[in-house]
This record gives sequence, C-alpha cells and structure tokens, in this order.
Amino acid sequence: MEFYSTRDRASRVSFRDAIFSGLASDGGLYHPVGEPSLAALFRGLAPDAPFVNMASEVIAALLPRTFNADAARRICERAFSFTPELRTITPQLRLLELYHGPSCAFKDFGASFLAAAMEYLLQEDQERAVILTATSGDTGSAVARAFHNRPGIDVVILYPSGRVSPLQERQLTTVGGNVVALEVSGSFDDCQRMVKEAFIDRSLNEQVRLTSANSINVGRLLPQALYYIYAFSRLHADVASEIVFCVPSGNFGNLTAGILAWRWGLPVTGFIAATNANDVVPEYLRSGEFTPRPSVQTLANAMDVGNPSNFERMLEVFGADVKLMRAMVGGEVVTDDLILDAIRRYHRDHGVFVDPHTAAGLVAAERYLEGEGAGDATVVTLATAHPAKFVESVERATGVRPELPDRLARVMELPKQAIPIEPTTAALRDYLLSR
Ligand SMILES: *Cc1c(COP(=O)(O)O)cnc(C)c1O
Repeated sequence: MEFYSTRDRASRVSFRDAIFSGLASDGGLYHPVGEPSLAALFRGLAPDAPFVNMASEVIAALLPRTFNADAARRICERAFSFTPELRTITPQLRLLELYHGPSCAFKDFGASFLAAAMEYLLQEDQERAVILTATSGDTGSAVARAFHNRPGIDVVILYPSGRVSPLQERQLTTVGGNVVALEVSGSFDDCQRMVKEAFIDRSLNEQVRLTSANSINVGRLLPQALYYIYAFSRLHADVASEIVFCVPSGNFGNLTAGILAWRWGLPVTGFIAATNANDVVPEYLRSGEFTPRPSVQTLANAMDVGNPSNFERMLEVFGADVKLMRAMVGGEVVTDDLILDAIRRYHRDHGVFVDPHTAAGLVAAERYLEGEGAGDATVVTLATAHPAKFVESVERATGVRPELPDRLARVMELPKQAIPIEPTTAALRDYLLSR
C-alpha cells in the first residue's frame, strides 16, 4: 500500500515516509492509494483468535512492502498489550470497549501502533528521532504512554499550564525516561504555534530529526481499522443479521478508519456518525453543505471540533459525492441533556457506566434501532473512553462515582516532573538544542 496527498492525487509515498512526515509537504493528508481486497481474509478470521494475531495478519496484508509477516507480528505484539472488548447490552446493541489501554481511551490503539512501527523502522535505519507534540490533554497522554521506553525515540510534549485537568497533567508529567513534558505558560494555541514553527525552522531540523505523532498521521489511522475487523470476527459466527457501527465523532478519524475497513471488504451495512452540538458533518449529510465553524463546548469535550480534520479523507473515499456518503453514513446530533440522560439510564437499566462520548453514541444507536430501516440489524457502538476519566459527568448523572482503574489511580500518586517554559518558539528551540 502506498499513500498520496489529498492535495495531489498523483503523488506517491511509502508508509515509512508517510508516518515520519505526518502531514504532506503541500499541507494535504496522506491517504491510501487503491483499496486492497481483504474480504476473504476477513471471512476466514477465527472467532476466538486473540486480537494481536488478527492484527498481525491484517497489517501484513495491508503493508507487505514495509513489513513482512514476522515484522508485522513483532510490531503488533509490541503495540497491543491490551485488546478491545465486546459487551452485550441487548442482542441488537453491543458496546465495543476501546478503553482498556494505558491512557484509557481508544487513541491508545493508534498511538501504540505508530510508536511500535516507528521503533521498528528506526532500528532498521539505525536512526534516532524526536517526537514533538502539543496537547490540550488527551492525545498527549496516549502518545506519552505509547512512546515510553521506545529505543531511538525521544518525546517532547507541550501542554498549557493550568489548562488541563489534574488527571491529564499527571498522565503527561509522570511518565519520565524518554518522555519530557514542557509546561508552557500560555494557551493550547501557543503550544500549537510553537510546535508548528519548530517544524518549519530549517536550521533546527538540520540538527534534530523532528517528527510528529498527531492524530492526522496515517500511522495512527490505519490501526484503528483493526478493531472494526475484530468486532466482525467476534460477531459473524453468532449474528446472522446486518452489522452497523455507531461512532462518537469529533475529528472523524475513528469513523474514517471504519469506512476504510469496509472499502477493503468488511461486510458492514452502514455507519452512524454521532456528534455532540458540533454538528458540521451531520449537517453536510443533510444539506450537502460543509460549513466549518468555531467549536462549542460540550460534556463530550474530545468531540468539540468545528472543522474535523479527517473530513477531507471521507470526501476522498466517496468522491466528494454526498449521496454516496449518505448511503453509507448517517448523522445523529446529541445534546448534553440527552448525554446525561443516557449515562443515567444505562447505569440504572443495564448496570454499566458510560462516559459522555460513548453516551452520545448510544443515543444515536437507539434512534437508529427505533427507525424504520433498522430491521434486525445489530448496532455496535464504540465506547471511546473509560467512564472514570469523566467522573464529574458520570457522578452528576448517576449519583455514583465510578472508581478509577488502577493504572490511572497509580498515576495520581506519582510526582509531577515538568519543565516550565515561556510561550515562545525561541525558548522551545533552545530547549531542543540543549538536550
Ligand atoms: C478523540 C476522541 C473522540 C473523537 O474521535 P475522532 O477520531 O476525533 O472522531 C471520541 N471520544 C473520545 C473519548 C476521544 O478521546
């Protein structure tokens, strides 16, 4: 599989070049060239095979020129010490829990795979690299944990002082080793500007090999297709009905990965894009008009995105034809009130805690199942974060405080280690050169 920039369809780069450059030099996103047919592989997957086995097979089939079967296996074993878990709410409504990784959110799958792939490729080339990234909270902790202790890689994370939650700050600043947290006396926008300017500083880049691990990296996108395939492998033996995936969405990377799996031959009937009040994609599906705008704050804050970066990739898949996209993707908008109501109901009726993002997905799934076209379809809703990461909302809705999983509770006990830094690119440059 090769990749092209969404701004230049004739361009071609390898997986290696695509993941180390992150964004194409013309500002486009890397997107797969062509669509491999893996339908036979998908149908042949054993319903009880461990996630790692399935992941290795699929990665070797997708990227044979970069990773042979052995390398794919080693990378997936290094990346996935955790697995998705499928939970039955009702026969027609399943939850695909993606929060059993180190940072307790689905972003662990993409970040861990990218880290293991980079580690493998740098060892092949005998090179070192510095991952430089700005975070407003969640992405940074997945990246910090994923790259911890990877030989050949150092990680520098910038976060805005006083503007991330206490748990997020601990997750960023307690990893240690090859992971350094820079506490910027400024806003998230300052952090992003400093990182952007560092990437285009030519003399700095001649001295330090800088690379990014942000969410538009195609090395984070591809592995997210794996858990859709995994859910199918678990379900197709005992579910004769059609399978629909419901995806709580912000930047639409998760949904795009599912759409790619479908294009490669996964038998999926459709997708439901669940958003909060930031509804530019559901609006596009309704009207054919895409109108990015500033985001508004909601309880599902990882979905507070007014200009979703992966929309460009969705347009590529459907040839920018809204009718084709509409035939495969439905949009549902869920308000904060309905999110709280769903958290309360699922706790009361099914004994499960769900976080606000997953709750938005469940409301959207219910609407689909109550609609006319649903028939006896099974809806798999992606559970994107551990409920204890959003303890305020969950407690407000249910009156009960979910317990922090051990791996998060332990983080709160560790001492914070962060280097304070002024919000200027010169200060970042000095730090990077003095390391
Ligand atoms: C990032 C995130 C989302 C949104 O995922 P996208 O791929 O950006 O659409 C949803 N829920 C949680 C908990 C997240 O962290």
